[in-house]
Amino acid sequence: MTSSDAARYAYEAPVSADLFARGQEITPGGVNSPVRAFRAVGGTPRFMVSASGPYLVDADGRRYVDLVSSWGPMLLGHAHPAVVQAVSTAAAAGLSFGAPTEGELDLAEEIARRMPPVQKVRLVNSGTEAVLSAIRLARGATGRRLVVKFAGHYHGHVDALLASAGSGVATLGLPDTPGVTTGAAADTVVLPYNDVAAVEQVFAERGADIACVIAEAAAGNMGVVPPLDGFNAALRRITAAHGALLVLDEVMTGFRVSRSGWYGLDPVAADLFTFGKVMGGGLPAAAFGGRAELMDQLAPVGPVYQAGTLSGNPVAVAAGLTTLRHCTDEVYARCDKVSATLRGAASAALFAAGVPHRVQQAGNMFSVFFVPDERQVRDYDDAKSQDVGRYTAFFHEMLARGVYLPPSAFEAWFVNAQLEGEALDRVLAALPAAARAAAAARPGPVHAAPDDAEATP
Ligand SMILES: *Cc1c(COP(=O)(O)O)cnc(C)c1O
Repeated sequence: MTSSDAARYAYEAPVSADLFARGQEITPGGVNSPVRAFRAVGGTPRFMVSASGPYLVDADGRRYVDLVSSWGPMLLGHAHPAVVQAVSTAAAAGLSFGAPTEGELDLAEEIARRMPPVQKVRLVNSGTEAVLSAIRLARGATGRRLVVKFAGHYHGHVDALLASAGSGVATLGLPDTPGVTTGAAADTVVLPYNDVAAVEQVFAERGADIACVIAEAAAGNMGVVPPLDGFNAALRRITAAHGALLVLDEVMTGFRVSRSGWYGLDPVAADLFTFGKVMGGGLPAAAFGGRAELMDQLAPVGPVYQAGTLSGNPVAVAAGLTTLRHCTDEVYARCDKVSATLRGAASAALFAAGVPHRVQQAGNMFSVFFVPDERQVRDYDDAKSQDVGRYTAFFHEMLARGVYLPPSAFEAWFVNAQLEGEALDRVLAALPAAARAAAAARPGPVHAAPDDAEATP
């Protein structure tokens, strides 16, 4: 056995396999969110039992360095002591009141301080809810019907926004969106990303009917595809010229890629922003916000209805507020640094193994595209040209070496501020073998989720 083999785990995960079998009896696919089922990469999804700092521990007792970070929220690392303490204190004081609390104001003020264009905030429970509420407000405020979105962008499982969506819709290669009415689909215009001419054209033709353009502030749900220089600014200019609103979805990037999210790196003042993930600190909390005059069109001040039994839940607010208060400049600097280290190491390992690829980033978020021609990935068609078979081999080799990557080639990799020392070394040590596995992979299907994906690397 070589020392490189010694670094590998026995690959089987019998306890997770049993739990997964049981899960499939009681919940569709055994999971409560589709990408977790590992269908795109095959094999047994690992059931987790605990997490601390940069590590996850699965039901078979194995420890993984986590490069998913709960799909973004755990920017501070897992079970951050101050966040756990704040949650315990809040829980002991009462789990939910159905009445306002001061913590909600603190969290909303913290968001507004970090996001200058946001004057008023409303808290909700998930990114999906933030987006659907923002869209309703945009339609209510403009009296218009159409929403323009971009192919490969994911905005939660909102009916009107599932067309050509990223994330799980991309991962599973779903052809269309059963369950979405033709009416909802007809109210959505899907354009190629990073194509200003396409936006100008749709506004020239249908501008008077367009309520809003919604875009991920920097796309992270088809892998990481940042906006080309000036693209968000062009959206701002075109929407304003036609009396439509711009909604920038910062559910993923918000408070992750800088203290002010993508806005901190590319300051385009949208009319509305949506937030989630980091601002909930690992509990279900999300928000949307914008100019006061616009937000005041929401009930109870204005006529656009929006509500939530658990919105602003005190325990979730405690997690989110404490997380944001600990998201200091130093935390962002550490995340930027570890992200740069990993990007460089992943690229070097793949280059050494002769694997064509392209690494793309949006702040500390990044992903590796196994694109045969190594061209910049600018839109969903480019993203779909990657060889997912190579990713599958790469993923499983990393997993076998104790590194938990997103189980899909269409997702971002998320670092956290605790990823250092032994944890970082483990990732760096695993990359060359994973790159060789990717090199050896039979050319995979492009953009498909084969049910017969072979689990064993
Ligand atoms: C995750 C995500 C959502 C949906 O948030 P949920 O909390 O999963 O509903 C919306 N938009 C973007 C950009 C996201 O990354």
